[in-house]
Amino acid sequence: MADGDLPALVDELEHVTTELQAIEVQIQELLERQQELIQSKRALKTKIQRLSEGAGTSADTEASSEDWKRQDFPWSQQVQEELRASFHLDSFRTLQLETINATMAAKDVFLIMPTGGGKSLCYQLPAVCSKGFTLVICPLVSLMEDQLMVLQRLGVSATSLNAASSKEHVRWVHGEMTDRQSQLKLIYVTPEKIAKSKLFMSRLEKAYQAGRLARIAIDEVHCCSQWGHDFRPDYKTLGILKRQFPNAPLMGLTATATSQVLRDAHKILCVQRPLTFTASFNRPNLFYEVRLKPSSSSDFIEDIVKLINVRYKGQSGIVYCFSQKDCEQVALSLQGLGVRAGTYHANMEPRDKSRVHTLWTDNKMQVVVATVAFGMGIDKPDVRFVIHHSMSKSMENYYQESGRAGRDDQRADCILYSGFGDIFRISSMVVMENVGQQKLYDMVRYCQDLRRCRRVLIAKHFDEVWDSAQCNQMCDTCSSERSCEAVDISDYGRAILQILRRAADLEEKLTPLKLLDAWSGRGAPKLRLPQVPPPKLPRPQLERIITHLLLQQYIREDFSFTAYATISYIKEGPKATALRGPDHQIILHMRDSTTAQVRSPASSTSRASPLPSRQKSSGSGDHKRPPPPQRSPKAKKSRSSPDASIVID
Ligand code: ADP
Ligand code: MG
Ligand code: ZN
Repeated sequence: MADGDLPALVDELEHVTTELQAIEVQIQELLERQQELIQSKRALKTKIQRLSEGAGTSADTEASSEDWKRQDFPWSQQVQEELRASFHLDSFRTLQLETINATMAAKDVFLIMPTGGGKSLCYQLPAVCSKGFTLVICPLVSLMEDQLMVLQRLGVSATSLNAASSKEHVRWVHGEMTDRQSQLKLIYVTPEKIAKSKLFMSRLEKAYQAGRLARIAIDEVHCCSQWGHDFRPDYKTLGILKRQFPNAPLMGLTATATSQVLRDAHKILCVQRPLTFTASFNRPNLFYEVRLKPSSSSDFIEDIVKLINVRYKGQSGIVYCFSQKDCEQVALSLQGLGVRAGTYHANMEPRDKSRVHTLWTDNKMQVVVATVAFGMGIDKPDVRFVIHHSMSKSMENYYQESGRAGRDDQRADCILYSGFGDIFRISSMVVMENVGQQKLYDMVRYCQDLRRCRRVLIAKHFDEVWDSAQCNQMCDTCSSERSCEAVDISDYGRAILQILRRAADLEEKLTPLKLLDAWSGRGAPKLRLPQVPPPKLPRPQLERIITHLLLQQYIREDFSFTAYATISYIKEGPKATALRGPDHQIILHMRDSTTAQVRSPASSTSRASPLPSRQKSSGSGDHKRPPPPQRSPKAKKSRSSPDASIVID
């Protein structure tokens, strides 16, 4: 071959390489689209299944919920009157009338409605409009008390039975249950009452036989299922109710029910084909945002204080923290900087808790810095922000917690600070829970996602099918101009695995932080890789890469239990061997600002490089076909072949 051909050949090689890379991008986009379609298919199948399960007769389908909205039932007039007279409300909210009509028609009903949607009215109003009493199962005494307080104020006769009830009170309630003259409309009990009190069950039996048990409402019905975020063993025993009292209509209510949880609940409660009403989980007035947690705690506090004192000046909000210690520290720092803040966590005296709750409700305290203990029953309408100091332990939890914002339908913000260390703190905490880690990783996936609409991600989690166009730019992804770029991180992955193998040979266990140190050329020299220079990326990007490898199972967590703590170490994951193949690629999306740094690779040996810039995705969450391949003078030589396996975030 003539010498003069060399530049032409080099040119052609570059051309071919560029085209190959473009094909990779297309494959990747198609794979992504495939994933989306698979998910949509799954969600649609679930919906269809849910509908057909709920369909006893053709009228019993969700699609016919219009029929349940009618106002010409024999009870319609009374229901309307009591709505005004007893509850002082003018109109029904979404799905309330349907649910009330269905239960008045003695159907078994499941109502899935976001927190704050107004589920309680759906059994309280029918209780007032029916003969006899309604039995309400409620998981927490505090929740019962909140509802009883409201009912008492409205003058609706209701009471509760729990472990703290006096003998006289118990006797009185038992008497009322069978007394035909009784005006008692609602009896709230904890599930343990059903599970453990034979006496109470025998009274229920008598009341049922006397036609006094109007219906049974099971609030927070997801507590039945281990798949829910709030499993309570006593809920498992509630199947006895439908078996013993088959003719008393049952109503299950929850804010969080994936199809799996619902199916579980049907089985556990022995309800055959409940009519299911599902309200959308979309909260159009909430703005969702995920931020990177600043690494210095003083920067972090400053960030939060700025938000509270500037953007939310004088407005009410919640800061959720991982631990009581975090709560106390954050509250102290906020107070020190002039913010009216108080703490709320499980270890406080009930008196102090209710003091904080009241001050906050009355707007005498701007912010409650709380653990998840500040939860069910919090119903302040004008919460303008919910800040997560750490991510939640599951998407269900996050939805619930962030959902306390904006109950008045005015705009409110949900800001989540995502931090690398938090993954492992929470992981060590949930390790003993059945599906704890799986749920946490779903949460982490949500935080890692730079490209999809937050609403689409949330909707997917709850088996809803959603289109990012409906977001109305009410999330960071949809409203952001920032684009991101697909980056090949395979060599980084290989370096990480090399470090892990080296550590294993040395019988050293690596915590995530130690791994990060060794990779960035810090810490014990024996753990570092002498032949691979540390990557020249900012730390958050290194964390992002490790997190990605974890979610994709190239690496995994391995827990060590001591008397004092559970420690998470990093080991090779089940997919580590795949990365041994030279053509296996892992692609991760990075923000532009960071990919600029990736452009100058860490070393000549590093193959990590951005793919051609045309594969930037705008982050709209929509699928876009990549433009046709172009020649790029910057394109680097790629060893990948078209059949290389590509793994994307
Ligand atoms: P959920 O149990 O779904 O979380 P709740 O039953 O506690 O919600 O109700 C939340 C709030 O909404 C309560 O303050 C309640 O008074 C209010 N609410 C319920 N129904 C209506 C309605 N039809 N109109 C106005 N407010 C309502
Ligand atoms: Mg409720
Ligand atoms: Zn969006």
